Amino acid sequence: MTVSEVSAVSTDPGLCTPLAVLGRDVRVPLVTGGEVTYAALDYAASAPALQRVWDDVAAYAPYYGSVHRGAGYLSQLSTDLFEQSRAAVADFLGCRPDDQVIFTRSTTDSLNLLAAALPAGTRVFVFETEHHASLLPWQRADGAEVTCLSAPRTPEQAVAALDVALHGAPKGPKLVCVTGASNVTGEVWPVRELAAAAHRHGARIVLDAAQLAPHHPVDVAALDVDWVAFSGHKLYAPFGSGVLAGRADWLREAEPYLAGGGATRTVTRAGDGGLDVEWHTTAARHEAGSPNVIGAYAVASACRALTEAGFDRLVAREQALLTRLRDGLADIPEVRLLSLFSGDAPRVGVLSFTVAGWNSSHFAAALSAEYGIGVRDGLFCAHPLLRTLLGAPSAGPGECGAPDAAPGEPSLNALRVSFGAGTPEEHITRFLAATRTLVRDGAAWSYRNENGRCVPSPR
Ligand code: PLP
Repeated sequence: MTVSEVSAVSTDPGLCTPLAVLGRDVRVPLVTGGEVTYAALDYAASAPALQRVWDDVAAYAPYYGSVHRGAGYLSQLSTDLFEQSRAAVADFLGCRPDDQVIFTRSTTDSLNLLAAALPAGTRVFVFETEHHASLLPWQRADGAEVTCLSAPRTPEQAVAALDVALHGAPKGPKLVCVTGASNVTGEVWPVRELAAAAHRHGARIVLDAAQLAPHHPVDVAALDVDWVAFSGHKLYAPFGSGVLAGRADWLREAEPYLAGGGATRTVTRAGDGGLDVEWHTTAARHEAGSPNVIGAYAVASACRALTEAGFDRLVAREQALLTRLRDGLADIPEVRLLSLFSGDAPRVGVLSFTVAGWNSSHFAAALSAEYGIGVRDGLFCAHPLLRTLLGAPSAGPGECGAPDAAPGEPSLNALRVSFGAGTPEEHITRFLAATRTLVRDGAAWSYRNENGRCVPSPR
């Protein structure tokens, strides 16, 4: 088998929508008896693997070999596949010719890598609305100074606030980190305008595309962002890989993220008895250790699958489902949708809300146990944003059980529904029907707190 044959192995990506994903027929038991097909509505946490990705990985698996460190046929094939995957990701992201694509473990890993690569004394600007993965790595960067901007209430306010903050910043290296689409509200941020503001003031910008890339084409050159980060497991490729792509200069000059084999060109004994190390200046500099070729190949496969399916068609379909979902929830007076920007702001298929009189953990547990619907509850690794949106302190882990917020009072945590290219419309219909019934009739079962999780009692 050759590399091109491996690349060609795939089932039909299925131009009919939704795209085929693993787990689409999984049946789960209901606490009230019987079983139903699982409705996965937590894509924002981890999306199911595309069938196409799974098939590509399965076709390659027998040919698996070491990358960049073997003379055998399979090692060479695997090395070629790994490098072709890099090129496929660069293509998917619309990278500039001299950008680097580094395979990491996840978005968190990518942003920590960039934080470790900042030139000394870099001033970093973030909004408090970020996911912790894009809020926190900069705090640990050696010598970096972090400015955390308050939550804007419109996209224009975001750009204006950044402009003011950068205008007042002293000379020296500066980095702006911004999310493309919120993992809480699904709102799309004005990335191009923020990039223009950053560049007007001589700053660089990194785009956290963990939630944007699975839902919307990302074009690095057109958006004019300096770096972009995303995770394979949110892009239908849950095989342990993420990506950091963008400008090579800071990365080339930084200390390697990990010290070890693969990142070095030569290692020699120094005259003083120590070691002289010459590090690579390519992406390999930050990819020490044996690369996760299956993870990289899976990401590339997902990129190809989304492109071939027609991303615009996927976006249109997702927007239709989102409108149904938002309209359906808007018809339930007890439901409060959480949003920062106004109702007509562009969004992806991620939506958070509270239900008056309900603890969100209780509601999510009932959706799962009584209806076979998987959503997420909590503060979604975006505590400052949730506190702003809820106007209340966050709840501790012990609040599961009976409704803890009286009708009309703010809930202490939230629910999130998220979906994507593999979601059938029926899942949205079922979710809306279950939500209406729960709000009207209450839960049919009782629930208790077990190690911080709300679980049916008895199970
Ligand atoms: N950024 C955003 C906007 C996210 O939603 C997430 C995860 O939910 C991350 C970063 C971190 O992604 P990962 O857990 O794959 O590192």
